[in-house]
Amino acid sequence: MYKCPTCSASSISFFRKWLSYPALPAYCKTCKSYSHAQRSSGGVGLVVAVLIITVFGFTAAALQSGWPLLLGIAVALAYYIWRVDSLQLEPLSPELVSTARKTESMSWIILLIALIFN
Ligand SMILES: [Zn+2]
Repeated sequence: MYKCPTCSASSISFFRKWLSYPALPAYCKTCKSYSHAQRSSGGVGLVVAVLIITVFGFTAAALQSGWPLLLGIAVALAYYIWRVDSLQLEPLSPELVSTARKTESMSWIILLIALIFN
């Protein structure tokens, strides 16, 4: 469990932290506040994880064995979890969450309209 940035209670699970973003924030039951993991560097973690799998994948192909690839996936997964684990949770105001949700639903509606009238 992770500490809520508002009240410091250990109320946020790894899963909630991992999935959190402004339109779907992590919710603290203790102080009823919203927060999310700052993703400014989260994308880098994913790119590095993919690179690790690629390098181990080439090693697996060169050695004609599946083990290096499995090892690569395990290393990439451990690295990615460590990245998410080290992300800072930032508090979010209810107004910001509401705005983010409206923006996101508008994007989905626009995407749906684009798909229907394609
Ligand atoms: Zn809290």
